[in-house]
Amino acid sequence: MKEILLLKLGELVLKGLNRGNFEKRLMKNINWRLRKFGDFKIYCLQSTIYVDPQSDDCDMDSAVEAIKKIFGIVNICRAAECEKDMEKIVEVAKEYLCDELSSARTFKVEAKRSDKSFPMKSPEIAFEVGGALHDAFENLEVDVKNPEVLVKVEVRDRAAYIHANPIPGAGGLPIGINGRAAILLSGGIDSPVAAYMMAKRGVELFGVHFFSYPYTSERAKEKVIELARLVGEYAGNIKIAMVPFTKIQEEIRAHCKEEYFTIIMRRFMMYIAEKVAEANDCGALITGESLGQVASQTMEALCVTENGINLPVLRPVIGMDKEEIVTIARRINTFETSILPYEDCCTVFTPKHPRTKPKLEYIIEEEKKLPFASLAAEAIANIEII
Ligand code: ATP
Ligand code: MG
Repeated sequence: MKEILLLKLGELVLKGLNRGNFEKRLMKNINWRLRKFGDFKIYCLQSTIYVDPQSDDCDMDSAVEAIKKIFGIVNICRAAECEKDMEKIVEVAKEYLCDELSSARTFKVEAKRSDKSFPMKSPEIAFEVGGALHDAFENLEVDVKNPEVLVKVEVRDRAAYIHANPIPGAGGLPIGINGRAAILLSGGIDSPVAAYMMAKRGVELFGVHFFSYPYTSERAKEKVIELARLVGEYAGNIKIAMVPFTKIQEEIRAHCKEEYFTIIMRRFMMYIAEKVAEANDCGALITGESLGQVASQTMEALCVTENGINLPVLRPVIGMDKEEIVTIARRINTFETSILPYEDCCTVFTPKHPRTKPKLEYIIEEEKKLPFASLAAEAIANIEII
């Protein structure tokens, strides 16, 4: 018996967007992610994507696990492929779904005939397969409202497919369909979640990380790389621009008022991130800021932070509580890495009493004590891409 994966796309989402592009991009992403699990042929027919193993040594379990993390897919159906013949369909259903059907109490069969040349109509197919399964499995009763096992028979152009209990996909839009953006990635909980959320909307990610060696350690850097790798299981490979930030922080500390330290540092981050973004074809910046979480994330501070930045600044977790962010971090498996106790450059030289309502004019005056543009340019010149 041949097993195949049928991937279902969100119909509603597809209507508004360019469907052809969506499917093409999604197939490219699937191809790329599955290459290490064997030789699969990926094609799209009647708005279903087929993942068709070309040899017996294809690793279907790993393929399913990888597909669960590919955005743009609503449901994953592991299906048996069979000839478009009622007797065969019944035999394959009994055999392929034997485990599920023998351990359940209730079931229902739904059929869908998209090949209109097939002699039976959908309700007739469902009726016949349902009757045969009912006879074959004495434990089963029919429950049309809330069945434990929902058997689906799809009679399509090339063959018939039988499956039950689809696996939920990651939803969202295929990576790359909505351009590219630079994510300011710290080692914390919030920015990996922000990265994941924008990737889910089809945005390809480019990371920017600021580090302050020797105030921050090599391990803090490795932590960020690991976080990018974890998010990358959903978002695809993420390059990170590692920006040396020590000199900038030391200069701010030496010349600016302590209470403005954090806000000026954050303005440097945005300024540099924008330059990196522009050099790497990114159409926006993404941060993990959440309104009111800390002094530098009040409405006034955010306003000062992004003053002078032309790219849109996307803040997907802006309206979320820490608990909500943590729930996502746990689900996408970044939480445990995020809480490893390595310092971030933001925690170096933090002022005792940071301003929660900074005034832009004062900040700009303070910044004049520094060669802002040349400090930033020097940091950019020493970026290492990982
Ligand atoms: P996170 O949990 O992501 O670290 P946070 O709650 O610690 O966020 P801040 O440290 O104030 O908040 O940082 C706010 C945002 O600024 C982060 O979500 C991230 O987008 C960006 N950011 C902070 N530190 C860095 C860094 N070292 N490199 C790159 N971006 C950073
Ligand atoms: Mg942080």
